[in-house]
Amino acid sequence: MKMHINLQITDPDGVVHDCQVAVLDKAYSNLGEIGLSISESKDLLLALQKEIISAQSQAYCVSHSSCPCCDRKLRRKGHKTIRYRTVFGDISIHSPRFYHCTCQDKIAQTFSPLTSLLPDHVSPEMLWLETKWASLVSYGASVNLLKDVLPIDKQLTAETMRRHLGRVGKRLEKELADERYSFVETSVYERERLPIPDGPITVGIDGGYVRSREKGQSLFEVTVGKSIPTDRPDRYLGLVQSHDEKPKRRLHDILKDQGWQENQKVTFMTDGGDSVINIARDMAPAAEHILDWFPITMRITVMGQYIKGLIHHNPDEGEDVARMLRQIKGYLWNGNLHDGQQVIDDLVMDLDEVETEYASIKALQKAAGEFQTYIANSAWMIPNYAERRRYGERVSTGFVESTVNTVVGKRFCKRQQMRWSKAGAHLMLQTRTRTLDGTLRDKFEQWYPRMKVTPKHPPRLSVIVSFMVSRICHFARVFFLSCLNSVAPG
Ligand SMILES: [Zn+2]
Repeated sequence: MKMHINLQITDPDGVVHDCQVAVLDKAYSNLGEIGLSISESKDLLLALQKEIISAQSQAYCVSHSSCPCCDRKLRRKGHKTIRYRTVFGDISIHSPRFYHCTCQDKIAQTFSPLTSLLPDHVSPEMLWLETKWASLVSYGASVNLLKDVLPIDKQLTAETMRRHLGRVGKRLEKELADERYSFVETSVYERERLPIPDGPITVGIDGGYVRSREKGQSLFEVTVGKSIPTDRPDRYLGLVQSHDEKPKRRLHDILKDQGWQENQKVTFMTDGGDSVINIARDMAPAAEHILDWFPITMRITVMGQYIKGLIHHNPDEGEDVARMLRQIKGYLWNGNLHDGQQVIDDLVMDLDEVETEYASIKALQKAAGEFQTYIANSAWMIPNYAERRRYGERVSTGFVESTVNTVVGKRFCKRQQMRWSKAGAHLMLQTRTRTLDGTLRDKFEQWYPRMKVTPKHPPRLSVIVSFMVSRICHFARVFFLSCLNSVAPG
């Protein structure tokens, strides 16, 4: 059977135009023929998009074809064809050029009205989709995914995606205000008069590594974090410290976005590394720095493994050392630093004196020595973990580990054999963190307010668009989750 799909457009002057968008010749006896196919939907959307954009751009040019001051008709000076990239295909648009009216004192003699309407030649929604997908999976995979469901020309390449993502990343960077040494803006007196704040915010910050494309350097460090308020959505933080000039501003803006006020408590959980602590330093007056319990137990577990080997060779000394290690864990868990450090010192001394055939004794001695230094340097950040646990407070940001995996993991991972420049990785972290915490779309809607799909009396096309976009996001999410699941956290 034949199906005609027609479009009726009423232009601003009230003139009605009818045009045929597509004719479908559909059979109805085979399963594969029932309903629209992806390929038909692509043709349909592309044809529809062409008609709609052509009508809109024509109307826009007509409305700009006379002088805004004296209303005289403007003289035309030829035209050119511009290509506008949209989610529903690359559209060629007829773009006329006009002479400015003689009543106007303009530097340029001529102008193209469409230049001001379409300065970017790529639609905001297309830019958003590209950025979002490329932040989740590789550029190549993003291109393939987009091409599967959308009428997008062959011109969409991984390189275009990379360029567009970089453009969005740079725009995000440009919006960041200046870096400061301290972000505390209120006095004690002023803070006491602030309204009662929400519950505390926990911020976990940690590092990960990314393969470098720079010569003589195999890896460089990236810093990622997660800010978890009591009753607001979480936000991610990501940056390349050796490249970023505004790490503190970045964190401060995230806290501010989450409604943080200066009398509100912020608990920073880190592994005690200087670079991560520096980001959080002088950030909040009511700040608490806590050493994550996770790196402590990790180190104790590693030593415990070595001690098992020692017990095999020297049962008596080995058992003694194992008992000391259990004591250390208990003391530290209860925040008893004095006794904890005492036993660590004893442990290090005993290990130095032990005579054994055990091959890994040097490694065990080294691990114990490093642990001694680690605890001494981080002593000021060690709380009573047992008590925190009793009060239902966090003792570990196991979430930090998973944050590193989430933010850095798949997109930067070694298996993809992708090498990064610091600048490129930093920009990618900006769009990726926003994609992961769901604020990328908000940012685009702030830049392009008309992108917002208003639920009241939605025009039909925007319903179709938002439906298509939601399906695409669903596919991307499923794809991304399946990627994540293949990387076990921790
Ligand atoms: Zn004029």
